[in-house]
Amino acid sequence: MDLQSPQKKKMNKIIAVDIDDVIADLVTEWLRLYNSDYGDNLVPERITSWGAISSETKCGDKMYEYLNYPKLYSGVLPVEKSFWGINNLRMMGYRVVFATASWHSEKIKWVKDNKFMDNEDDLVITRDKSLVRSSFLIDDRPKNIRDFKDTGILFTKPWNKDFKWDNRCNNWDEVVSYFKKQRSIWD
Ligand SMILES: [Mg+2]
Repeated sequence: MDLQSPQKKKMNKIIAVDIDDVIADLVTEWLRLYNSDYGDNLVPERITSWGAISSETKCGDKMYEYLNYPKLYSGVLPVEKSFWGINNLRMMGYRVVFATASWHSEKIKWVKDNKFMDNEDDLVITRDKSLVRSSFLIDDRPKNIRDFKDTGILFTKPWNKDFKWDNRCNNWDEVVSYFKKQRSIWD
């Protein structure tokens, strides 16, 4: 028998939020480093599918070596309104955890330094996000959203625009509106 009140159930809802290109504007910094090294002018809009970045560059797969650059995150800015958005979700009573595929100590430091989380209790590191037991996942990678067992929300980016998925948010204003609507359904 479920003895939890509706209010308690709402409080238990967990939202897993991807880090790269959902709260951390990684691609902008990644391309900035590449453009400055190779004298190119590559912009995120040219990357129109997941995994297509190396084919758009002059350096091919060497592009992925930037992801191991120790100071990569020192130049990464938060995605617009992401901090405001995360705080709003928490104020609505959700638990927000961050789900990321790679263990990059500078990335975790970035999340803490930018005050998205105080400690690593709210951090899940897994390449397979279908293993995450949250009610929602917000992610920009189509595969993660497609494989997720509960409600997947695709955070729209140029590399996922062609993926057929109705449950999308284009920015953090839309994320907050989406969850306000969810809350009104339970109230
Ligand atoms: Mg991502």
